[in-house]
Amino acid sequence: MRIVLVGPPGAGKGTQATLLAKTLSIPHVSTGDLFRANISQGTELGLAAKSLMDAGKLVPDEVTIEMAKDRLAQPDAAHGFLLDGFPRNVAQSVALDGILKEWGIELDGVLDLEVPEDEVVRRIAGRRICRNDGGHVYHVESHPPAAEGICDVCGGELYQRSDDTEDKVRTRLEVYHTETEPIIEYYQKQGLVTTIAALGRVDEVTQRAIEALRKNKDEG
Ligand code: AMP
Repeated sequence: MRIVLVGPPGAGKGTQATLLAKTLSIPHVSTGDLFRANISQGTELGLAAKSLMDAGKLVPDEVTIEMAKDRLAQPDAAHGFLLDGFPRNVAQSVALDGILKEWGIELDGVLDLEVPEDEVVRRIAGRRICRNDGGHVYHVESHPPAAEGICDVCGGELYQRSDDTEDKVRTRLEVYHTETEPIIEYYQKQGLVTTIAALGRVDEVTQRAIEALRKNKDEG
């Protein structure tokens, strides 16, 4: 399956993408994770992206599209992938369509995770992430680790993303509304979008997502 996950920051895209990718046996491709890996490795791309990411703004399309294309061209993505955080504007969606067309493949679905705005801010401000594996995610109130600052799964150090503070979240939400939301309409015209409520327990949302994708596939 080739899937795009859309939703505001804090919708749980990363958490759901990790679980869905495992269930569907496809790689989870997160452009945010790819940028963060470049930053921690000190690459030129990382240097160029860092200040924009810290400000909650988008990295220019050209570099982002090239990075995503390189990742999708890897052998593990040949039979499917779950995109998280890409495309993030209509220009990137058009570019992705072009890349897939060139490769003779198509998207199977776009899963839109819906969350009320005040819940988004609450989730992000309390979010803590494992340095070893960005898929291990906690919340200081609703999902605290057993020992403060330490990952239950692997013992890694937990940290707060530099763009997860409340003022940065507001900027990222604004960017989401103006830049990213229009891609939902873009994909609706292709009949690809399924919207699900991303509220409730993590496993309930995963279940909802899997059912929505199956239904979408059966109808498609
Ligand atoms: P995320 O981890 O998806 O929340 O992404 C974190 C940050 O990385 C975003 O706020 C952007 O600065 C940058 N980023 C990630 N994906 C993209 C993209 N597709 N286009 C532009 N910037 C991106």
